[in-house]
Amino acid sequence: MASEDRLAALAERIAACDMCGLAKGRGKTVPGDGAADADIMFIGEGPGFYEDQRGLPFVGRAGELLNEMLASISLRRADVFITNMVKCRPPNNRDPFPAEISACSGHLDEQIETVRPKVIVALGRYSFSKFFPNEAISKARGKPRNWRGIVVYPMYHPAAALRNGGLKARLQDDFARLPELIREAANGGASVSETAHAPAQPAEKQMGLF
Ligand code: URA
Repeated sequence: MASEDRLAALAERIAACDMCGLAKGRGKTVPGDGAADADIMFIGEGPGFYEDQRGLPFVGRAGELLNEMLASISLRRADVFITNMVKCRPPNNRDPFPAEISACSGHLDEQIETVRPKVIVALGRYSFSKFFPNEAISKARGKPRNWRGIVVYPMYHPAAALRNGGLKARLQDDFARLPELIREAANGGASVSETAHAPAQPAEKQMGLF
């Protein structure tokens, strides 16, 4: 089955999913959006108010900042695939519970297997902890890592940058490195560390780009 069709079939199953309590309070399910063959996948935390209304990820204020960051490196949303750890809105935008993340993880795994991105941008600590649990996003951000042959690139969540203006510059810096990372990963040449505490060096250096 083509990737678009697999994602569409998955979106239908997500719409009918009742594997956790979030199903009760949701408006629309928010499976994900973008190119089914994208080289790059962004994974956030979970839908907020506007996402729940529209059934699309990152369409509120955090989404505006994400769009701005994408535009800063000449990418459009249609060039990438955007999704979340959980596909239904947690009540009052609370953080998702571990049981909700775990109930939803099969959906995300299927998206990763279908899109087969070369780079996954983990937006925020919940997303990052799927790949590298028990590590602080503040230490890990901006350092690309190898996860099962995919480059995982942790960044601050855009909502964190909206709350704390000081983080916006770091988010911008991390985005600025993304095109090089994508090029390198697409050429299959990246040698990215799997170590839990990668040395603090520029991403390009860690990847052996210079
Ligand atoms: N925050 C997220 O993590 N995901 C969204 O889709 C919107 C806001």
